[in-house]
Amino acid sequence: MLKQIGRMELTAVVNAYISMSPFYQDKYGLVENDDFEALPFLSKHELLEDQKKYPPFGTNLACSQEDIIRIHRTSGTTNSPLLIAMTETDLQQVTNIGTTLFKLVGMCTQDTVFNCLNYNMWMGGYTDHQSMEGTGAAIVPYGTGYTDSLIELICKMPDSSIHCTPSYLSVIKDKLVKRGLKPRDLKLRNGFFGAEAGLGNPEFRKKIENEWGIEAFNANYGISEVISILGAECSEKDGLHFGASEALYLELLNSDMELIPITSGAKGELVVTHLKKQAQPLIRYRTGDIFEIISLDSCACQFKGFKFSISGRVDQMLNIKGVNFYPESLRSIVSSYSELTGNYKVIVSKEEPINSISALIEVKQKSSIHEELLTRLIKEIKVSHNVSFEIILTEKIDFVGNKSKLLERV
Ligand SMILES: [Zn+2]
Repeated sequence: MLKQIGRMELTAVVNAYISMSPFYQDKYGLVENDDFEALPFLSKHELLEDQKKYPPFGTNLACSQEDIIRIHRTSGTTNSPLLIAMTETDLQQVTNIGTTLFKLVGMCTQDTVFNCLNYNMWMGGYTDHQSMEGTGAAIVPYGTGYTDSLIELICKMPDSSIHCTPSYLSVIKDKLVKRGLKPRDLKLRNGFFGAEAGLGNPEFRKKIENEWGIEAFNANYGISEVISILGAECSEKDGLHFGASEALYLELLNSDMELIPITSGAKGELVVTHLKKQAQPLIRYRTGDIFEIISLDSCACQFKGFKFSISGRVDQMLNIKGVNFYPESLRSIVSSYSELTGNYKVIVSKEEPINSISALIEVKQKSSIHEELLTRLIKEIKVSHNVSFEIILTEKIDFVGNKSKLLERV
């Protein structure tokens, strides 16, 4: 069982938040709470509604406007963006956790890292930049877009590394191909990946490493409104270490909305309560991420945080004729075919119940679009997931921005 702070200490933290936040007074009442588990869960939808009603930061600000020194915005991958305010203490906490985790993954003074995450309001840009600087590496604040110029710059600085989403590699590759170049021509050393799932899959990781000639690291899992970086892997590469135990109280919910003990092998939606947050503290916040505890035992690397993986998102769970299916779960199959790039998108109707499901899957070469490959894929997916797919093979899947969306409802 995961060791966390005591109930009395937790209650004191929560009551302090309630006393400073009209949002929680409205949600929980003014009465001092002594039964943490009786408090209703908090959803992102509630925060978004509150910010819409009380712009810009909503009524859970819980600090003076004068104490805010940084404003970010969530990426809006799953719904509207949420404004995030941070005090100096909040920022220090986030960047300290970030630096510790980037060091864990191996980033060091010898690295020159192109940070190719969006600097336009997103924490993956500037805040991760600060965290990475803490490792002593030289950070190039590149951001997204201007990919041609990125290629020219990296060519002038061989042995550099990149920090980006795995799907951004496809954007760079397209530009390289147009120049008659291959991914390996960039002579990149390390790929630090985050903000998207995928690297936890060994086939997907191997594919990237072989094609780009790099060592690929699962370097950055986080939730912007919680802590922008919560986990990274160590040299064992067998799961992410949790790096925010001092900052968060954790709970896990099963699909029946029941709390389950946090032990090795436990799997459920991650629910978090901030322990030290000054601006916009969250209490029993349902993150929507399905967390799987790999092990609470100590690791050969000596890092203290437990090991976990992310299995998908609650809001991406589809029920196809009685079978629960996560779009992320197709990745291991799609990554295992040499004819495929590893990129794909699952498409279902907006209306429930969902009677049919299709997948757009990207091939490396047009010549691979043939009946035999289609039949093999349909059969393998049916056997492993018990779901009948319509498969569409395509030469190119267009991603908007640098984050891929695995699920599209039409
Ligand atoms: Zn480790």
